[in-house]
Amino acid sequence: MVSRIIPVDPFDLVVFGGTGDLARRKIIPALFRRYCAGQMRTGSHLIGVARSALETASYRQLVAEAIREFSGGRACEDGTLERFLEFVEYIQLDAQGEQGWPALGELLQGDRTRAFYMSVGPSLFGDIAGRIRVNGLVNDATRIVVEKPFGHDLESARALNATLAEHFGEAQIYRIDHYLGKETVQNLMAVRFGNVLFEPLWNSQYVDHIQITVAETVGIGGRGAYYDSAGAMRDMMQNHLMQLLCLIAMEPPARFEPDAVRDEKLKVIRALDPVEPHHIVRGQFAAEGDTPGYRDEVGAPRSTTESYVALKAHVSNWRWSGTPFYLRTGKRLVARSSVINVVFKDAPHSIFGAEAGQHSNILSIRLQPNEGITMHVTIKEPGPGGMRLIDVPLDMSFAEALGPDGQDPPDAYERLIMDVIRGNQTLFMRGDEVEAAWAWTDPIIAGWQARGEVPKPYDAFGKGPEDADHLMRRDKRDWRGIKP
Ligand code: NAP
Repeated sequence: MVSRIIPVDPFDLVVFGGTGDLARRKIIPALFRRYCAGQMRTGSHLIGVARSALETASYRQLVAEAIREFSGGRACEDGTLERFLEFVEYIQLDAQGEQGWPALGELLQGDRTRAFYMSVGPSLFGDIAGRIRVNGLVNDATRIVVEKPFGHDLESARALNATLAEHFGEAQIYRIDHYLGKETVQNLMAVRFGNVLFEPLWNSQYVDHIQITVAETVGIGGRGAYYDSAGAMRDMMQNHLMQLLCLIAMEPPARFEPDAVRDEKLKVIRALDPVEPHHIVRGQFAAEGDTPGYRDEVGAPRSTTESYVALKAHVSNWRWSGTPFYLRTGKRLVARSSVINVVFKDAPHSIFGAEAGQHSNILSIRLQPNEGITMHVTIKEPGPGGMRLIDVPLDMSFAEALGPDGQDPPDAYERLIMDVIRGNQTLFMRGDEVEAAWAWTDPIIAGWQARGEVPKPYDAFGKGPEDADHLMRRDKRDWRGIKP
């Protein structure tokens, strides 16, 4: 099954922080892949912006290297890369200074779509937004894209929203949560709202509980200073896991339109109960052989920042009353795996007797790796023996379904950047959603601070702190294994 490519009209994409890590690893390769796919047409421009003194030629070299390293070896040898590089420009400019803006303006063309991607620290968002406006770089088709972290708490998120709102309308602001750009996340909506099969069962009468796991094997890397001031709760739970919870729990929107979808997600966040302190587990990974522990990695010997958090959440509304949501995320775990498991209740009565065994239906939605959906169903164990029940997976792997040659589904950034260009905000967070998520998160973090809580150490490359298992076992449930 080959997906249909609809080319977008030529556009200008300005990447502030165009020499940075995110630009090189994600934004540039994503754009190149869309070019290779025929979606980005000749005449579009990628304009990198940073303070470094680079000639256009040396920036093109940086772009070429980023593509070779991070775009999965696509079409680099047949001249495609050279043609793509002709669309690449560079402007040297300090976001906090006045130089360079007129030169940037000269590169922007007419009334066509111009997107300003802020791939810089959030402290520069206000400077950039203001200078784009003051220098007259805004046309009717202007969009700005902002990266996470969107604030550190409710107060800072409100301040950031207010700063952006001074210069741009909400319809022009695209707050990225790249989890929303994943193929599976959209398929989750297709599965829920495109089939009659699931929606009648999608409630507390039939769903026992939901597990959302985002596990990483990596540690903190070069982001120590940022991460130690944030922790897993701010870095992952408040945004990525919260967004996944929203998509699972939300009511069907009347239409698949940006505000209709985002209104429903917002209702979910607002329906979340405050989390009881004994329903949260925090952890910090310990050293393992040559692998340093969390505190050594971030260079903070007494840090009490969590690299793991697990919690039990309740969505207090008619649909979900009584169905808990268990969420966990952590670094240096046994495998890299992001998966949502919707665990259905047991059949009300087993006609086969206790010895046949009993299995619950589970819908597993895998976000990475191997994006796909698996439905676990109960069947009879084949053979002439008695009636014994086994659990078999009905598997739908998107890589197989999508690619003529088994190619990976498009990276989240490919879809999200194209959505910015097309002007579709469905997969981007609205300002009030972000604020509501912080309003739920802030008291949890304040509680830890008030109680002086220290995270529990856990083994590197294991499954996280023991207490996280107890969180489930107390409710006579178990986490599904973290599998690659
Ligand atoms: P980075 O590697 O430190 O890059 C920062 C970029 O901003 C560089 O190109 C830098 O170039 C430019 N820059 C810094 N100050 C500037 C100024 N005053 N005016 C103009 N340009 C300036 O950071 P990053 O990892 O790419 O992250 C960028 C943003 O994305 C951050 O907010 C980060 O939290 C977020 N983010 C990153 C990732 C990731 O995987 N890296 C993932 C999610 C979100 P010069 O020094 O030459 O100016």
